[in-house]
This record gives sequence, C-alpha cells and structure tokens, in this order.
Amino acid sequence: MPVFRTEAIALRRTDYSNSSQIITFYTRNYGKIHALAKGFKRSSGRYSSKAVDLLTCYQILFIKKEHTSLHTLTEAILQDNYPMFRNNLDKYYKASYVAELVNEFTEENDPNEQLFDIFLHTLSGISTDADPTIRVLAFEIKTLNILGYLPEWGHCVNCKSGIQQIPEVHFNAKEGGVLCGRCQLKCKNGIIVPAGVILIAGRLLNMNFQRLERVRIQRSICVEIEKMLRYYITFILNKGLNSWKYIKI
Ligand SMILES: [Zn+2]
Repeated sequence: MPVFRTEAIALRRTDYSNSSQIITFYTRNYGKIHALAKGFKRSSGRYSSKAVDLLTCYQILFIKKEHTSLHTLTEAILQDNYPMFRNNLDKYYKASYVAELVNEFTEENDPNEQLFDIFLHTLSGISTDADPTIRVLAFEIKTLNILGYLPEWGHCVNCKSGIQQIPEVHFNAKEGGVLCGRCQLKCKNGIIVPAGVILIAGRLLNMNFQRLERVRIQRSICVEIEKMLRYYITFILNKGLNSWKYIKI
C-alpha cells in the first residue's frame, strides 16, 4: 500500500476505540484528511510520547486507503508544538479558532498550499505576538480571499459607485459587499459599518507577515472588524463557530 509523507497541522481529535483516535489534519500536499491513529492515544491521563497533540505541526506518514476517506497514520514527527499556546489560554483559544475556521472552510482532499502557509504563519504569530488579535483578523480576511469569498469593499457592490465620502456604509452579506445609500434602500438586512473599519480591513488583506507583527490598530476598530467578519462568516457557513464563545478580541 502506498505511504505518503506531508507537513500537517492537527485540527481535531476524536476517540475511535480505547487505543486509537481519528485525527483530522490540514496538510500541505493533500488538504484536509482524516487519519486513524492506532496506539497514539494518551494513556491514563498522561500523553504518551506517541500522542498527537492539537494545534501542532508534524511531518506525517500515512497509508492512503482506496474507497475510504479514513487513512492510517503510521508516523508523526514533531515540527513545532508552539509551547506558548500551552500556558496562555487567550493564545490557545485564538489558535483553536483559526483551526476551526480551516476545518469549516475546507473540503477533504482539496489541497491549497497558500492557505497552509498562512495557517502556519498565523500559528507562529499567535504564539509569539504580545497581542495576537491582529493575526486572527488578518487570517480571517486572507482566508476569505484565498477561498474566493472576499466581499466587495472598494465600492458599492450593486451600482459600483464609490463609498469613500460616506462615514458609515451598509454591509450586506447576501449581496456580497458594501452598498451605497441609494442601493441599501432596496436591500433588506445587512449591518452598518464605519467606513474607516472597511478601509483598515482592506489594508490587512495585503499586509505581509513581518508588517503584521508591528502594526497597531485601536481596540475599538478591531472589535468592529471582527463583528463584521462574524456576521459575514455566519452567512457563508450558515452557522456560528464554537470558538466565538471563548475568544476575546
Ligand atoms: Zn449603489
């Protein structure tokens, strides 16, 4: 049977039997996969040396099975376990949220190297930044862009007129972007967002990882950006995410 090797980040873990677990990985070469980890389970409350930890990057070897989406994990070599997550709850929840987003937004066996790279960079950033909030916002926006969901922020999604002179704009998830004063009268629902918030969210999209490390954004603007993103993500996924109960922006 063919054995495959790839870089992988552990997203989820479910018990399968007393001695095995099903691990969901996001991998560089194969996208999201599920792998049965026999004998990898923690024993009597303590992790054995073979345990697979969540939010950890491994080089994995797995046997790919025909006609089933459950593969068999044969080896997991530790690359980075981001020790800062383990003693800082805020960092741990933010990293968990990023992993939940990857899990919810991806299908099995659909690799996307760009997404894998920003996922990896974001985990490192959350681990090392004094305040990882901006990393989380940038990850959400970059992920929406990579997966083709980025809303229209530059001008009215309906009539294409500019929105620069408007202090507050209507953002409508169903329409897929912002609406000018005239067009919003015809569209129901949506939320009102300060134009400055839209502008800063747009800048985060194009910021590289070195710049993200240094940039500072007012807390109130971060809160507004996250509010807008949660409203939009809820519309796309047709549900809210579990991590929202725990993370503070
Ligand atoms: Zn318009």
